[in-house]
Amino acid sequence: MDNVTTARTPLLDGNAIPSLGLGVYKVDNDDVAPLVHHALGAGYRLIDTASMYQNERGVGDALAATDVPREEITVATKFWMDDLGYENTLAAAQQSLENLGLEYLDLYLIHWPAPQRDLYLESWRAMEKLKQDGLVRSIGVCNFHAEHLERIMENSDETPVMNQVELHPWLTQVPLKAFHDSHHIVTQAWSPLARGQILEEPSLVSLAAEYGVSVAQLVIRWHLERGISVIPKSLSPQRIENNAEVFSFSLEPDHLTLINSLNRDYRTGVDPNDRN
Ligand code: NDP
Repeated sequence: MDNVTTARTPLLDGNAIPSLGLGVYKVDNDDVAPLVHHALGAGYRLIDTASMYQNERGVGDALAATDVPREEITVATKFWMDDLGYENTLAAAQQSLENLGLEYLDLYLIHWPAPQRDLYLESWRAMEKLKQDGLVRSIGVCNFHAEHLERIMENSDETPVMNQVELHPWLTQVPLKAFHDSHHIVTQAWSPLARGQILEEPSLVSLAAEYGVSVAQLVIRWHLERGISVIPKSLSPQRIENNAEVFSFSLEPDHLTLINSLNRDYRTGVDPNDRN
């Protein structure tokens, strides 16, 4: 049986990432090291941060202190929209490497496409260069619509290995997921619990009780069974552990359908085209 350490999602570049990781958005730099340390102890092997979260140094402190070998941990980070453009992206990667105290990043992501700035293609060239130079193992994007991905694929050698997008039972992203699947791009869910709001959904509360699991566990399991990588965030060591214990049960097909039917295209964040 898989667990949070062993369950992995292959990438089209030949690498693989853990299917379930820890997100650290809105975790203060001073608080993040003990949480990452706890998560690694609980078996997590994927940490998702970003330059914008201003906690890369704290994540780096936890990575420096852990006994878990570096090659077993997937460190993902992202550069912010202000760093779009070729030279800016190269410089942003160097800064993140320094902040994290690492020699290479496992996964480097464009945080937002900001289409009105029209710089993400230039950034993608820099991402390809970072990969060629061995500073980054895998390159991907966040918050890209299919049209943005198509533009990259039509104009570049490398296809993004992953698109990290807002995705939860109120925003199931069925068309985008199908597009990803057709190009072997991994779908990863940000705000997989709709920033905690989904935990109050009455139909999920009763379904979780039927399975004898928490609503968070039910929803994380649903993501994984859809083939979606997932990075829930919690400030609580106990909830970090709870969120990882999703490998000892599976959902009935009818229940997957029920959760899928909750979609109402509700975003907790902005539409990527509106963020510039
Ligand atoms: P999540 O959907 O992961 O929800 C986090 C909220 O759920 C917190 O309020 C947390 O509370 C609560 N929660 C978590 N686990 C449990 C549990 N077991 N029981 C009860 N409550 C729980 O939201 P995020 O927005 O943080 O998304 C996850 C990650 O996705 C981020 O941390 C970040 O890494 C990434 N992200 C990426 C974005 C992008 O643009 N690429 C945008 C936004 C997020 P508490 O902390 O008190 O436990």
